[in-house]
Amino acid sequence: MNLGGTQILLDPGPGCLVQSVKRKLDALKLKAIILSHKHLDHSGDINIMIEAMTEGGRRQRGVLFAPSDALDKEAVIFPYLLNFPEKVEMLSEGGSYTVDGSTFETPVRHRHPVETYGLVFKTPRHTFSWITDTKYFPELASYYKADLLVINVVLMEPREPVAHLSLVDAAKIIVEAKPKIAILTHFGMSIWRSKPWELAKKMSDDTGIKVIAARDGMKFDLATLQEG
Ligand SMILES: [Zn+2]
Repeated sequence: MNLGGTQILLDPGPGCLVQSVKRKLDALKLKAIILSHKHLDHSGDINIMIEAMTEGGRRQRGVLFAPSDALDKEAVIFPYLLNFPEKVEMLSEGGSYTVDGSTFETPVRHRHPVETYGLVFKTPRHTFSWITDTKYFPELASYYKADLLVINVVLMEPREPVAHLSLVDAAKIIVEAKPKIAILTHFGMSIWRSKPWELAKKMSDDTGIKVIAARDGMKFDLATLQEG
């Protein structure tokens, strides 16, 4: 993610290092790495990306943000890496943080098996929110009102006891939060089989809000939010 030149990495999952090298993204330009929660599909490459951001600890730089349970019991971040970044900050409910002049908030703890927070970014021009893994709860949309809303959607329909959002939940959230544009991502297999781009198109028609299905390597320019 690039906010007015400030590069921030969110949830370095498995393959992050390889994918970023392939896309010519330089980890040494990162100002921060933010981990929403410790599940492996989000944190698989967190250690290697801390190494990359700090040149293997040779340059103490960048900030690492993570929920405390990613560092305490059953930590996914190796203790030896904790003094590689300039600073390590714990995410907590209602928290507000600054990276290089951009601020972000973690308004509410998600309903997920491990400590998890979504993010709300506020830049001088735009707001955008990211609802990471969570079970649906009715207040969810109220915390994430923004110009751009990114939602992790795993299921086609709500399925107990899976602590993830479904397409049905996502549509409810989008209607209530009313972003200018919504991006769906983090698809489970049932969504893949049903062609996410077609589901997004249908959701756009149903909600009257532009909904985009993310794909690997997709770029989204925040300036798009100013148009129309
Ligand atoms: Zn998760």
